[in-house]
Amino acid sequence: MQTTLADFLRDTPDGEEAKSIVGKCVHCGFCTATCPTYQLLGDELDGPRGRIYLMKQALEGNPVTESTRLHLDRCLTCRNCESTCPSGVTYGRLVDIGRQVVDDRLAAQGIQRPARQRIARWLLREGLTRPRLFGAALRMGQLARPLLPPVLRNKVPVATPAGPWPRRRHARKMLMLAGCVQPSMSPDINAATARVFDRLGVQMVVAPEAGCCGAIRYHNGDHPGGLDDMRRNIDAWWPHVEAGVEAIIMNASGCGVMVKEYGHLLRNDAVYAERAARISALTVDVSEVLPAFAEPLRELAARAAGKRPGRVAWHPPCTLQHGQQIRGKVESLLTDLGVDVKLCADSHLCCGSAGTYSVLQPELAYPLRDNKLANLQATEPEAIVSANIGCITHLQSGTQTPVLHWIELVDRMLG
Ligand code: SF4
Ligand code: SF4
Repeated sequence: MQTTLADFLRDTPDGEEAKSIVGKCVHCGFCTATCPTYQLLGDELDGPRGRIYLMKQALEGNPVTESTRLHLDRCLTCRNCESTCPSGVTYGRLVDIGRQVVDDRLAAQGIQRPARQRIARWLLREGLTRPRLFGAALRMGQLARPLLPPVLRNKVPVATPAGPWPRRRHARKMLMLAGCVQPSMSPDINAATARVFDRLGVQMVVAPEAGCCGAIRYHNGDHPGGLDDMRRNIDAWWPHVEAGVEAIIMNASGCGVMVKEYGHLLRNDAVYAERAARISALTVDVSEVLPAFAEPLRELAARAAGKRPGRVAWHPPCTLQHGQQIRGKVESLLTDLGVDVKLCADSHLCCGSAGTYSVLQPELAYPLRDNKLANLQATEPEAIVSANIGCITHLQSGTQTPVLHWIELVDRMLG
């Protein structure tokens, strides 16, 4: 599709990138069939092809309305459409740019979001990205949990202990991003990751100055704030990179997909471009690293025989299977360790969590969660495992079946 950029976007990095992405779309509509919001709403404008058309209109300077924004807001940014697209349309980047353009143009016309939406978005941006503040608020919520109405109780996970952090030092070191909400919501995920690698002779290092990966601000209408989060993390990690860490490990696929994009998003930053590219190159999901340790892992699991779980259902987060295009690794790893692991029907579809989406679009997020849980439960699992804190919390809010990170399962198997 040919796009003629409006004057305010011509020769800007975002404008030119968006134009090039739209240019690859041949309007075939293959993506529409795999779009979760199109499946629920049946409206072309709530599918990728329709949204691309809306963004093209906005990029060309044609009128944008609150309806344009609503259709873009309803997108989960699950990037299922990217996996389906035969023409290589990088929809995720396009919608990030398109949303900002539409928001800015509506603001210029004096059309603001309703106050409730603005407050909710501000609270999410400022609250979720401050681990101490978020941790304190969550602890208060957990204390008051029995008194909360069900709709709020669902959002507050039961407090769980972290388990011990390994104290041994190893010559082999890898960095790990602790994340912003994960240490409070499910503190055992980071500790379990550190314990698994400790058994394999690798020390996990956490840089305390690093915080949110930038996704919460970047995907919620604050690109400059998101880029600042990225720069802060690069500064926090750089001394460790210079000291020779082997990799930067991500155990939340939502953060992983963002950090892998630092190099691209900061490519025009004269100060940070080079370091951002190096950080992205060093970043790997935990499932990309562990296969290199397959043999010692098997030996450790064999020695701990008897702790093997029953059947588990694996829910691959969109940020893993579509955002990072990582498929099959977790299943192979768990199968190799003797776990009976099942993928459910429609495993390519989003569970509705999608970062802050379950808070901002609950009328779509909960039907998606319930569809996903029905498919997962149909495999008759003892537990559900996933790879992203958002999916884990969202799914757990709708089932009594335990939902945990797959690395916690491995940690328990190793004893
Ligand atoms: S990112 Fe997901 S929800 Fe958004 S258009 Fe693509 S498939 Fe649909
Ligand atoms: S599948 Fe790709 S090329 Fe076809 S309409 Fe969707 S985005 Fe465009």
